[in-house]
Amino acid sequence: MQKKVCERNSDKKFCSFCDHTGIVRHSYFEHTGEMPMEPCPHCIVPHCRCGGEDPYYYFDDGIKECYCRPIRMKIDLINQIYQRSGIDKRYRWRFINEYQSRNKMSEAAKLAAYEIIQKFPNVDKGLFIWGNPGTGKTFLSTIILTELITRYAIEGRYIKITRGFFNRLRSTFVETSETYGTSSAIEKEFAEVDVLVVDDFGTQRDSPWEQETLYNLVDARYEAEKFTIFTSNNNPHKSLTDIAGGRILSRIKEMCRIVEISGQDFRDSL
Ligand SMILES: [Zn+2]
Ligand SMILES: [Zn+2]
Repeated sequence: MQKKVCERNSDKKFCSFCDHTGIVRHSYFEHTGEMPMEPCPHCIVPHCRCGGEDPYYYFDDGIKECYCRPIRMKIDLINQIYQRSGIDKRYRWRFINEYQSRNKMSEAAKLAAYEIIQKFPNVDKGLFIWGNPGTGKTFLSTIILTELITRYAIEGRYIKITRGFFNRLRSTFVETSETYGTSSAIEKEFAEVDVLVVDDFGTQRDSPWEQETLYNLVDARYEAEKFTIFTSNNNPHKSLTDIAGGRILSRIKEMCRIVEISGQDFRDSL
């Protein structure tokens, strides 16, 4: 079974089966991290003479570029970006049609996500999704990231704000550490990537150094006008008010549309 990729593309050289993108994706496959996309079997594969062999050239009175090459190169690029996105295995290759809204709040959040996916990069704000644990916030945020990477072949990263995240960052200041001296590179990467998902953001247990680190990240993305999605178990209007003197909250309010998803825990049905 194959499903169309709903990529918008004004170039009509492809067929309607692939929604004029040249790419189709499998809708049923094991979520093991492999590529669920392939060249359209109607408008690309019949013209392919390279047999899908990288680097997609064939021999005919000299070396010729195969018709499939731009499409296969795009799929390869999307795959490379996806491999380095940091999305957890259980959330990989999940798309917006898989997100089941359970109540009015999650329906509104899904609509907001859908709008972003359709309009990107012409969206003026990111998303801050908050609500009690187990309401699918991580799921929805990684779905948006997956959709944006696979539709537009843009760089995206997922990070989860845990003790381990800060420890890794802190270890870049330790001379004996393998990652010594890389903190600015890591911070630069997170600050500059096209799309960033920051999962589990903003808890009051964060130390002043951690709060400052988060503020710097938020501020850098604000300054660079980069699209960011946050998730949090806490209402930002309450939990972020006292963090970094309210500076983080005011930045986030300018950068993001704040959306609540609260309700029953539905992680078991994932
Ligand atoms: Zn096609
Ligand atoms: Zn080919």
